[in-house]
Amino acid sequence: KRTDLFTLLNKLVDLFQSEVEEAGIELRLDATTTNCELEVDPHRMTQVFYNLIGNAIRYTPSGGQITVQLAEHVNTTRDELVIRISDTGRGISAKHLPFLFDRFYRVEDDRSRGSGGMGLGLAITKQFVEAHGGFIEVASEVGEGTKVTVYLPRGVHI
Ligand code: ATP
Ligand code: MG
Repeated sequence: KRTDLFTLLNKLVDLFQSEVEEAGIELRLDATTTNCELEVDPHRMTQVFYNLIGNAIRYTPSGGQITVQLAEHVNTTRDELVIRISDTGRGISAKHLPFLFDRFYRVEDDRSRGSGGMGLGLAITKQFVEAHGGFIEVASEVGEGTKVTVYLPRGVHI
């Protein structure tokens, strides 16, 4: 189904607005393109970004900032939308990064902290992104924050 990712992300950011206000976090959408139609399953795509923004909120303390960036990468070899969720949260140490997308994997502190969460969100997210021919990666720095980037192809560029 043709789905406009700009609209989808805008709705999600709105949906989370009262939650982030209560948590003392700033959440904003920063789009450099509005040409964002994709052939995707809108419900699954909503779940993907619901999970990623939800994580950013859960793992970012009060006073933090979350930015959802939406851009397009178009050149002779690719035509894709790039969505990056950046937070100023506590970050993830390098030793955990290889396992983040494993089912039920959570960083130790989060297992004992009892902060909800099954450790399934990222595993499901990765499955959906890859089912759409996309790619997801995480870059993180302890104490600095986390950037999760999703690349979604728009089809063959001629
Ligand atoms: P669920 O999504 O199933 O409710 P969860 O959020 O714990 O639970 P995932 O979304 O799969 O599970 O994330 C796995 C782990 O990665 C988390 O438990 C947390 O330790 C770490 N993590 C994920 N996103 C972030 C983030 N933005 N900042 C810091 N740590 C993160
Ligand atoms: Mg999660």
